[in-house]
Amino acid sequence: MNSRVDPNLLHELKKYGAVGIEKCFNCGNCTAVCPLASNEYNFPRSVIRRAQVGQKENLKAQLDPWLCYYCGDCSATCPKDAEPGETMMAARRWLTAQYDWTGLARKFYTSKVWEIGSIVLVSILILFMFVFFSGPMTTDHVALNTFAPVQRIHYGDWVLAAFLSFFLLSNIARMYWLSIGRSRIKIPLSVYVTEAWKLIYHFVTQKQFEKCDEEHKGFFKKARWRNHWLLVSGYVLMFALVVGFLPWFQTDNIYPLWHPQRWLGYYATIVLLYGGAEILWQRIRKENQIHRFSHPSDWIFPILLLLTTASGIMVHTFRYLDLPLATYYTYVIHLMILTPMLVLEVPFGKWSHLAYRPFAIYFQALREKAADQSKVTAGALASTD
Ligand code: SF4
Ligand code: SF4
Repeated sequence: MNSRVDPNLLHELKKYGAVGIEKCFNCGNCTAVCPLASNEYNFPRSVIRRAQVGQKENLKAQLDPWLCYYCGDCSATCPKDAEPGETMMAARRWLTAQYDWTGLARKFYTSKVWEIGSIVLVSILILFMFVFFSGPMTTDHVALNTFAPVQRIHYGDWVLAAFLSFFLLSNIARMYWLSIGRSRIKIPLSVYVTEAWKLIYHFVTQKQFEKCDEEHKGFFKKARWRNHWLLVSGYVLMFALVVGFLPWFQTDNIYPLWHPQRWLGYYATIVLLYGGAEILWQRIRKENQIHRFSHPSDWIFPILLLLTTASGIMVHTFRYLDLPLATYYTYVIHLMILTPMLVLEVPFGKWSHLAYRPFAIYFQALREKAADQSKVTAGALASTD
């Protein structure tokens, strides 16, 4: 690994949202109070130290920033107001940009013009697709599938899913290379298989998040973890319905209330609406430690989420009220918001952390198991000498 020092690293992290990082005098209080740090993973101090001494290549290999779930305890107890929690957040954005080989994540995180301009560009592209490829507008009743033929939209969803998967998976491959591959750690194939359950388990449960929310009592105990879990469940459900089952979901038939098509859609809508509004409200109030500082990406994501959900509700309402033109126009607006949110946020922006966190836990487990096994092998060789 290249061990050259980069004196600009601190300045670079500030562009990604780190504040007060230069004030840190390495006392270690933050690591002592962190509910997720350990002897091997002594963040956030270790991350700040690497940034201060410019160990750029070393920082690229770190999984620690993904193991922090941003409770803010470290920032609340720092005697120098060095905001270590913000540094961890900035390090996650910075790492996202390092994994992304297209360079788009770096542009989005460091330039509002790039981020907002890209959203507008993708929206205009969707508008043009409707101008040129939509079907006729039936005006005596709502015929959404005539205006926007479901099979055509469904093929578009598959192209979208393939696009997202390609960029996200290739970025994860780079994460693997930076954190494990280039250090030439020998990991037996059996370890990859036996530890794979952690990837799925942590993606589904986000269990580590629970430890980050220990001071609350009663109903509010684990509230952050619960809200986050609900939001992700709604997002994943909606994504699965749209990409996998669109002909069942986008139909001109009005199903009865007890039909799964309706309550699954309502469940996803309610949790997305609640989750998006809650994030935005907390950021506006700035009451909690973790909401005192907001990067532009912290605003753009909940705003897109709320607008997507609100426009989806409007399409649904206009369809039930049998208002054809209102249904068609809001449907186009809905896709003009939804598509850039998926195309830009999932592989290059805030949503990518949903993939990077469980992969970091998996890669951490691979490294630990490989280290354990090499100790056993070394011990066995020593005893035969
Ligand atoms: S960030 Fe604050 S608490 Fe942590 S090591 Fe630096 S000065 Fe100490
Ligand atoms: S924000 Fe919480 S989990 Fe993250 S480093 Fe600070 S104390 Fe640890």
